[in-house]
Amino acid sequence: MENRVIPDDIVQPFQLENAVARGRLVRLGPAAQEILNAHEYPDPVASILAETLALAALVAGIFKFDGLFSLQAKGDGPVGIVVADLTSDGALRGFAQFRADEVGALGDKWRDGPVPHLLGGGYLSFTVDQGAEADRYQGIVELTGATLADCAHNYFHQSDQFDGVVKLTSGRGDDGVWRSGGLLVQKMPPEGMVLQSGDAADEDFEEAWRRAVVLMSSSRDDELLNAGLHPHDLLFRLFHEDGVRVFDPDGLEMRCRCSAERVENMLKSFPRAEIETLKIDDDVVVSCEFCGRDYTFSEKELNRVYDG
Ligand SMILES: [Zn+2]
Repeated sequence: MENRVIPDDIVQPFQLENAVARGRLVRLGPAAQEILNAHEYPDPVASILAETLALAALVAGIFKFDGLFSLQAKGDGPVGIVVADLTSDGALRGFAQFRADEVGALGDKWRDGPVPHLLGGGYLSFTVDQGAEADRYQGIVELTGATLADCAHNYFHQSDQFDGVVKLTSGRGDDGVWRSGGLLVQKMPPEGMVLQSGDAADEDFEEAWRRAVVLMSSSRDDELLNAGLHPHDLLFRLFHEDGVRVFDPDGLEMRCRCSAERVENMLKSFPRAEIETLKIDDDVVVSCEFCGRDYTFSEKELNRVYDG
């Protein structure tokens, strides 16, 4: 018997039995909430950040990497930056920078097109960092389209390396707690040789791929956000006609990589006189943009950082 504990904060990989597509389903509950709780984000900002977290978790799986994957949207709109990053061992974090008055002035209008209303013009970048410079990859796409999913599709088109379709959603439950979720299907390269005329085989494959996209698109936002719906049950409902195989899920958790050592190294990259101007009541306080943790440096500690 399958253990019916319903997993949360996971990426669930799957593959269609017809070998046309593989994919990933992501559901974020407590991890998303913890990331959003580190700051007081207004709803529109929380919503786009929660979707960015889900997109990062989906797209990271396309790259087989050992290190850090990060997704960054930069625009000239009320939300200047949205960042989500994820290590290959499942540590997820993110933050957004925004101008509260401009976000507030939007009212509910942002829902018609979160990307143009919140981010405006700019770009979305996908970066894989595996330590060595040679193992770094960066893909960039302009922010075009109404939603983050539209931007991701433009990226897939442009990259030529993957043919995929994503669906993303985020929302606040009746309990006021944020969740986000999403689905990605990715076309697999045709394997082996089909013994029929080439055109017919291609058409069958393309037809099966289009069906996979239609089936994934039939998933509803409330299903992707439902903490009480087992991911296997949702995937089965969507893809049972073609058969779907699930693999072990990868867990995700909010874990920030900030540390006193990193903050000290950052301080040391500026002249001390410049850092002294940031003093509030004799201390310099550096806040982590991701988790909100404060690192406080007294005069004595600054002496240690700069002279030690
Ligand atoms: Zn931090």
